[in-house]
Amino acid sequence: MPKKLIVQKFGGSSVANVECIQNVAKRVVDYKKKGYNLVVVVSALGDTTDELIELANKINPAPSEREMDMLLSTGEQISVALLAMAIHKLGFEAISFTGAQVGIITDTSHMRARIIKINADKIQEELKKGRCVIVAGFQGVTLTQDITTLGRGGSDLTAVALAKELAASECEIYTDVEGIYTTDPRIEPKAKKIDEITYDEMLEMASLGAQVMQVRSIEVAKKFNVPIHVRSSFSRKEGTMIIKEVKRMEEVIVSGVTLNKNEAKITICDVPDQPGAAAEIFKELSNNGISVDMIVQNVSHTRKTDISFTVALSEALKAVRYTNKAAKKISTGEVILDKDIARISIIGVGMKSHFGVATKMFEVLAENKINIEMISTSDISISCIIKKKLVETAVKALHEKFELGK
Ligand code: ADP
Ligand code: ASP
Ligand code: MG
Repeated sequence: MPKKLIVQKFGGSSVANVECIQNVAKRVVDYKKKGYNLVVVVSALGDTTDELIELANKINPAPSEREMDMLLSTGEQISVALLAMAIHKLGFEAISFTGAQVGIITDTSHMRARIIKINADKIQEELKKGRCVIVAGFQGVTLTQDITTLGRGGSDLTAVALAKELAASECEIYTDVEGIYTTDPRIEPKAKKIDEITYDEMLEMASLGAQVMQVRSIEVAKKFNVPIHVRSSFSRKEGTMIIKEVKRMEEVIVSGVTLNKNEAKITICDVPDQPGAAAEIFKELSNNGISVDMIVQNVSHTRKTDISFTVALSEALKAVRYTNKAAKKISTGEVILDKDIARISIIGVGMKSHFGVATKMFEVLAENKINIEMISTSDISISCIIKKKLVETAVKALHEKFELGK
C-alpha cells in the first residue's frame, strides 16, 4: 500500500527560536517514524515578517511592492533551511525548497499574489527518495521569475494549496493555541475550543478578524473540500477540524465572537444629496486599489448628508488622500479620519432562522455603555464599529451573554 501523505504547516510562533525549531523537527520525525510521507510548510521565525516590514519603511516609507516581496520572502527561506538542519541532526533525511523551486506559480500582484498552478514534480521526486520535503510558506514566483508573496498569513494558503495538489490525506495547521476557539483565547480565557467548524463559519470568522487562519486559505479549502486540522505545536491534543458539514443536531445560533482592530473609519461631511456622489467617491478609491468595507450614509434633511466607511488601517492615509481628491470634485465638507475604532462581530449559521439576535447584541453593548458607531450584517454575522479601547470589554460581555464558554 502506498504511504499516506500529510501536509503540516508550522506558524511563526512554532519556530520562534532554536528550541521551538528542534521541537518541530521532533514532531515531524515522529510522523516519519510512523511511516508517513511528509511535506512541511514553514513560516518565518517569530515576528520576522513584521520586523522586515519595519526595516523597509525606515529606508523608504513607500517601498516598491516587488522589492518588498524580494525582502519578505527571505524570512521563510531562513526557517526552511534551519528546520531541514534540525531534522538531519535527528538522523533523518530532509530537503528544503523556496516556493519558486517547488513550482508555486502565481500572478504578478505583488504582496497579494494568487496561485495560478503548482508543478509538484520536484516534491514528488524527493518524496520518492524518502525525504521530508520542507517548503517555504507565503511565497511563489511569476511566470517571468519574479518572487511574489501571498498576503499576510499566506503560509496557511501554501499548505492548503499543496495538500490539494498532492491529494494529501491530511492538512495540519500547527499554531500556538490548541485550535479554533469561540473567541480569541488570549483576550477571553473562558473561550472554548470548538471541535468541528464549517468552512462557511471559519471563513466568516477569519474575514471578521480571527487571524488564526488566513481567509484565502479557507476559500481554497472550501472550493476543493480539503479538511484542515488546526492544532497546537506545543501539545499532542486534538485540535479543531474545519470541514464541509458538522454533526450538530441543530445549528448553533451564535458560535463565535471576533474583533478586528486593524480598520479605520473615514467620514465625509456634507456630501451633496444627488445621484452620482457616492459613485464619484468610491470610484476614486477602487481605481487606486483601495478596498472599502462597511459603508453608512445618513438620511439627509438639508439636501446634504454624511457618508462614513471603513478601510484597512494600513491603507488609511492613502484612502484619505483619494477621498479628499473626490471630495473636492463634488464639493463636500470636511473629510475626517478616525483610527481609534474597532470592529466587534458575532457569527453563527443559526442566525438565519432566529430573530432577536441583533437586539441581544445591541443590548449587551448598551449595558456596558458602549456606543455603536456603525452596524453591518450578513446572513451569518452581525458587526458593530465601536471605540477601540472598549473592544476587549465588548468581547467578554458578548461571549458571556451568548453563553459561549459553556
Ligand atoms: P501562526 O504564527 O501559527 O500563524 P497566528 O498568530 O497567525 O499564528 O494565529 C494564532 C493566533 O490567533 C492565536 O495566538 C490567537 O491569539 C489568535 N486568534 C484570534 N482569534 C482566534 C480564535 N477564534 N481561535 C483561536 N485563535 C484565535
Ligand atoms: N510570515 C508571513 C506573515 O507573517 C506568512 C505567515 O506567517 O503565514 O504574514
Ligand atoms: Mg498565521
